[in-house]
Amino acid sequence: MTKVVKFGGSSLADAEHFRKVKEIIESEPSRRYVVPSAPGKRYKDDEKVTDLLYQCYNLSVEGEPIDDLFDRIIDRYDSIVNELGLDLDLSDEYLHIKWSIKHHAGRDYAASRGEYLNGKILAAYIGYDFVDPTMFIKFADDGVFDTDETDSLLSVKLAKHERAVIPGFYGSMPNGTIKTFSRGGSDITGSIVARAVMADLYENWTDVDGFLMADPRVVDSPKVIETITYKELRELSYMGATVLHEDAIFPVRSAGIPINIRNTNNPSSKGTMIVPISESYDPSCVITGIAGKRGFSVITIEKAMMNSETGFGRKVLEAIEKENLSFEHLPSGIDTMCVIVGTGEIAECKERIVDRICSSVTPDVISVEAGLALIAVVGRGMVKAKGTAFRVFKACAESDINIKMIDQGSSELNIIIGVEEADFERALKAIYAEFVK
Ligand code: ASP
Repeated sequence: MTKVVKFGGSSLADAEHFRKVKEIIESEPSRRYVVPSAPGKRYKDDEKVTDLLYQCYNLSVEGEPIDDLFDRIIDRYDSIVNELGLDLDLSDEYLHIKWSIKHHAGRDYAASRGEYLNGKILAAYIGYDFVDPTMFIKFADDGVFDTDETDSLLSVKLAKHERAVIPGFYGSMPNGTIKTFSRGGSDITGSIVARAVMADLYENWTDVDGFLMADPRVVDSPKVIETITYKELRELSYMGATVLHEDAIFPVRSAGIPINIRNTNNPSSKGTMIVPISESYDPSCVITGIAGKRGFSVITIEKAMMNSETGFGRKVLEAIEKENLSFEHLPSGIDTMCVIVGTGEIAECKERIVDRICSSVTPDVISVEAGLALIAVVGRGMVKAKGTAFRVFKACAESDINIKMIDQGSSELNIIIGVEEADFERALKAIYAEFVK
């Protein structure tokens, strides 16, 4: 059994957390490959080391001194090393990093040193080998992550290490310069490592008990999801639910490796399992989760006999495609067609899209209305249960909420409804209360 364990920034923010992390790793010998983030916040108004490194980079570009700021970064690491009583001298590393940032080694280089230094400390503390991902996690010339090259390089490299710490967040370009993933990207490194060693499980340790059924800022103490499929996770993440970087799913998903979200501060909780497929679900609660977003607009097009005009839909969508925009949903009637798009995305090109639609399909009426919120009610259990849509509508009706749009695909994995932005939070609460007793 091999597990890859990734620890987020809050799980490695100070010496006390390093101790918890060591205990977790040592409690199971299968935890052989460890991917750390940079030290995160220790308290609410604290600063993440990655943010301090970006600030150092910005100062150096402006020709300002970085010494004071860089000293704060050194203090963060030194306090961890000293409190853990480690015999580790990082002073040469600090000098080299500071010099490189001052000499414009690059924004990604600066940011990546947060993970690099934390990896050095963690490897020394738990006695694992340190494997720098620079040579093994590769990006192509266009900056896109190179899956195949990385997989072959990293699997050969890690086969030589029984146990290793591999810093998250970065790799390198073909010319050797450091390149990072987008923010939160250590999750992606963990997934890449899990795939390279064909792990049985990818454990992602963070500071919450797992993936929650609804946004805790809206719903009071929502339940933790025990098991969720990759497909369900995609639907919920797309609608704004977060715990894991969106791109972290792909490497493990294609290898069929499950992910387990765990809480470093509460290791006895089983967390959330993200699995390739699952036939089972809790019959007392057919839905897995609810997520939603504000900020959508509806383009409504009406034309008599639209239904018999072949190519009508294509022409309308072409008008949107020309602006390089994608649409979200397409609910339609016989003589009406609605296209749902992000309000922010069409702000600048609204007039052009309307003009284009008017000239290509000559509608009787066309309007663009903002202020729509979308809510996705997701659950693999829905396909086997009758009355799920009824219960979503009942919950909204009983809370006096008007449903403006409905979309349910035949895969029956989710029901999406559109409501006025002003009703968004009430609708989420009402639907949650209907399904979670
Ligand atoms: N340290 C990086 C960030 O703050 C990457 C990560 O934590 O996953 O975004």
